[in-house]
Order: sequence, then C-alpha cells, then structure tokens
Amino acid sequence: MLRKKYRVGILGATGTVGQRFIQLLENHPQFEVTALAASDRSQGKAYAEACVWRLAGEMPTSVRSIKVAPPEPPLDCDLIFSSLPGEIARAVEEGFAHAGYPVLSNSSACRMDRDVPLVIPEVNHEHFALIETQRRARSFDRGMIVTNPNCSTIMLALALAPLHRRFGIEAVVVTTLQALSGAGYPGVPSLDVCDNVLPFIDKEEEKIETETLKILGRLRESSIEMANIKMSAQCHRVNVTDGHMAAVRVKFTRPASLEEVTEALASWRSLPQEMELPSAPERPIIVRNEPDRPQPRLDRDSSKGMSVTVGRIRPDGVLDVRFVALSHNTIRGAAGAAILNAEMLIALGYLA
Ligand code: NAP
Repeated sequence: MLRKKYRVGILGATGTVGQRFIQLLENHPQFEVTALAASDRSQGKAYAEACVWRLAGEMPTSVRSIKVAPPEPPLDCDLIFSSLPGEIARAVEEGFAHAGYPVLSNSSACRMDRDVPLVIPEVNHEHFALIETQRRARSFDRGMIVTNPNCSTIMLALALAPLHRRFGIEAVVVTTLQALSGAGYPGVPSLDVCDNVLPFIDKEEEKIETETLKILGRLRESSIEMANIKMSAQCHRVNVTDGHMAAVRVKFTRPASLEEVTEALASWRSLPQEMELPSAPERPIIVRNEPDRPQPRLDRDSSKGMSVTVGRIRPDGVLDVRFVALSHNTIRGAAGAAILNAEMLIALGYLA
C-alpha cells in the first residue's frame, strides 16, 4: 500500500544547509517539500528567484515556484526541518512546536536543553523518549523539538559510540580541521583563509565537548545523565570546501587491542541499518587501511555522504589509541542527519 508522503517545510531554505535539504529530499520516499521559509530578503519571491543554487546539479524543479514565506506558523506542511541561524532559531522553533509542528533542528539553540533530544539514530535513538517530558514541560500538544548535533560532534560521537560501548572511554582529545561550508554562505572571507589555517571557530570547541557527553549519556527517567568522559577539543578552519576531519586520541577504561578497536568500528551496525531506513548507510563507519586516508576529496561522499570514514588507527604514546575521522559536514553533519532523525521518528511511531 502506498503511504501518503509527509509534507515538509524547510526554514533557512536558501542557505547552505537548506539547499542540501532540498537536494536530499528530491525523490525521497517519505517526504515531499511543500513549504520554504527564509529571511525578509527572500520572502515573497519564488524560490528560484530568491535562491542562488550553489550545489552541483540543477535546483529541483519541484521547488522552483514555491513562494518563500516568513519562518512563522502556519506553513503548508506536516513537519519542519530547521536550518536557521542559532540567534533566531529558539523562538522560531518553539513557535512552530507550540503550533503543533514537529521540528527537526540543525541549530545549536535548543540542543543542550534538558528536555530536548539530541540524537544520532545509530547512537542514542532511545533519547527520543524525552519528547514526552518535553511535551508535558512545554505544553506542546502534537509539536516537538528534536535536534541533531553540531557537524563535527556527529562525526566524533559516531566514531566513539561503538568504542565506548565495547571498551568504555575515559578521555578523548580531538583536533578538528573543518571545511569552509561549515560556516554557511558566504562564510569566511577568502583573503582570510587562502594560504592559511584559522585556529578559531566560535563556540565550536565547547559544542563538541558538551554535546558528545549528552549523546553518549544514559537516559534516566526524564533526563540524560551525561557520559563521564574527559573531553578536550581544538578546532581549526581549513581551506577545504566540504568535509570535516578530526584527529582523535582516546583513553579506554578496559584494555583494547588495535585489532579489537578496528573490528568494533568496522563491524558496527545499529537500528537504522537493521530497519533499512532510506537514508541509513549500510555501514555508519567505513574503516580504511591505506596510510594516507581519509581525505576530504576522496572520502566525504562515502555512502552518499552518510558514512564516517576512519583511518590511521594506531597506538597512541600518551592515551591508548589514535585515529583520523572524516565526514561530510552538510550531509551526515547537518541535513542528512536531520532527515535520518525524521525517518527514525517515523519508524518508531513518534510521527504517526
Ligand atoms: P547560511 O548558509 O548562512 O544560511 C542561513 C539561512 O537562514 C538562509 O536561508 C537565510 O535566508 C536564513 N536566515 C538568516 N537570517 C534569517 C532571519 N532573520 N529570518 C529568517 N531566515 C533567516 O547558514 P547554514 O550554514 O545553512 O547554517 C544554518 C544553520 O545550520 C545554523 O544554525 C548552523 O549553525 C547550522 N549548521 C550548519 C552546518 C554547516 O555545515 N553549514 C552544519 C551543522 C549545522 P536568506 O537567504 O533569505 O538570508
């Protein structure tokens, strides 16, 4: 039996992540884009007129004539994907949730709220249970706010999750090399970043250090007990268009050989894979053995941008093990992450 598709509205539809949503949702089996919203610069115009399409390939014809609306209810859709700037996201997303819309947000605004699930479906889909607490606490009826993590955190937490489960993790030291598209458009001025590396990304280190602990934390009745892991993150913006990289060092609670670590990463499959959700990669983590991989240009599109590639797994002279991880920041790190969350919510009956 053919099920009617969920009608989707995208907030921040003209931006870097918004365009990626539109690209990934073209021909999606469960969703069709019916509403688009952006700033007053774009409102009232047809999407094709408001948006300068910056992804490879053509803007999907199905969205070209949709009129860009203000980001406020009502919108002609059943659920909302939000890619609004953090400064305005909270009020807007709460407004939609109060009006009865499920909101799946990329923004950092509500991620660390105690009653807001911060979810990577392979890692902590059970945290969706916070939705009931949230609805009671905020008097939402059918609405909800569900978030996906920061683009670097997703990559890191995905790579750490099978290791934490198998060996326990005591400490993590991570150094990121992050792509330009992570700053949105137009992002970092070219004269600042050409022939250069910028050792500062506003609030990024704090986000990685706190969000990872919430994601790897345990659901205890109506809240999350943060994981007890010492975290240290340093973040850098590098001259790469797409694909965040992270050099990671880990200290385990129990001894683990390199073979066991490699096997734990490479063999890991979780509920989205078992349920064959449309956006779930066959393997959340792809382990590469070549000495010079992963690389952004070669590995960011693994499994259509939804797998994290891990390589250079080695013993570490200070902690226990080190490796390099890489993932596509606007796909697994943003739009693809929110879409996979929505697919998981449907599969678990939260969007009935
Ligand atoms: P972006 O390229 O700057 O796009 C921002 C979008 O928000 C545009 O559609 C813009 O519309 C709209 N907007 C700006 N101010 C607005 C306002 N006052 N009212 C309504 N709409 C407004 O940014 P982005 O990179 O897509 O990031 C969007 C969000 O996703 C941010 O919260 C970011 O932290 C998060 N995120 C980004 C990435 C990434 O890799 N880029 C990854 C994870 C999470 P106009 O075009 O009309 O101005």
